Amino acid sequence: MKALRWHGPKDLRLETIEEPKALPGKVKIKVEWCGICGSDLHEYTAGPIFIPASDPHPITGEVAPVVMGHEFSGRVVETGEGVTRVQAGDRVVVEPIYACGKCEACRKGKYNLCEKMGFLGLAGGGGGFSEYVTAEDYMVHKIPDSISYEQGALVEPSAVALHAVRQSKLKVGDKAAVFGAGPIGLLVIEALKASGAAEIYAVELSPERKAKAAELGAIVLDPKEFDVVAELHARTNGGVDVAYEVTGVPPVLTQALESTNIGGELMIVSIFETEAPIMPNRIVMKERTVNGIIGYRDVFPAVISLMDQGYFPADKLVTKRIGLDEVLSEGFETLLKEKNQVKILVKAE
Ligand SMILES: [Zn+2]
Ligand SMILES: [Zn+2]
Repeated sequence: MKALRWHGPKDLRLETIEEPKALPGKVKIKVEWCGICGSDLHEYTAGPIFIPASDPHPITGEVAPVVMGHEFSGRVVETGEGVTRVQAGDRVVVEPIYACGKCEACRKGKYNLCEKMGFLGLAGGGGGFSEYVTAEDYMVHKIPDSISYEQGALVEPSAVALHAVRQSKLKVGDKAAVFGAGPIGLLVIEALKASGAAEIYAVELSPERKAKAAELGAIVLDPKEFDVVAELHARTNGGVDVAYEVTGVPPVLTQALESTNIGGELMIVSIFETEAPIMPNRIVMKERTVNGIIGYRDVFPAVISLMDQGYFPADKLVTKRIGLDEVLSEGFETLLKEKNQVKILVKAE
């Protein structure tokens, strides 16, 4: 079968590899759609980050080259011995987290913080940019017929956004600001709508992303037009209750913090490449809190239910559909060049 494998930075190859087998405890899935994620792009331009390039991953035992793709939907074609959650013919999505089950984080149920944590599609074990993939029984979640396979491919990135909002102190009726309206920022806007935020502000420079945020119902503020901190304080009578930082740009961190109210919260959703200094008095003098999340845990069923109600809509968020043969030229390279792309989905045939 065809599969896209990471051999090194700027070295992804579409290759023919052996089809995976439904070994005991594993579910074999025919992939329908797989999204290209920001972390896939990072592995492409500046990896390895999550990919085991020299030492085998402690859980999968694999080392590069590895098949990429962790945001996918598909149909179960075969189940290995002992599989109980699904059967052949089921429509599914995969929660692609490998966790050891033994470390302190795992024992606390925080499996996304496992010390050996790895992603299927980055750490080995196959991936969604291929015709077939096998996943562990515990990773697989069924989706109802009302959720299309395209929509299903958005469950994984939407889970990040929903986890961010659920871990924040946002309450129904609160005001929120999202700094950065890239793919995850837009999904945070959807998660905020689903969580009952009364006013959602999106702070963004790019005209295309501003338009998308507005289409999803956010009030858009352009930092070129306003002092956004002053503007947010004026519009919300003293600041938002929670600000979500989704840019990874150091100066934005302070802006996001400063845009919050007395006792407000800054929730950091992005990963930073450098230090981002904050004057501690900005936290102390207003008794604000600073929080952060990575990945998700225990939210796939909630995301699937919310999608059934129309949240995280694929028709607004998927901007391009391509075949596996064009994944590099029309997928990875396009995402690096075009800011108007939100999610590009890849179909393996
Ligand atoms: Zn992802
Ligand atoms: Zn663990």
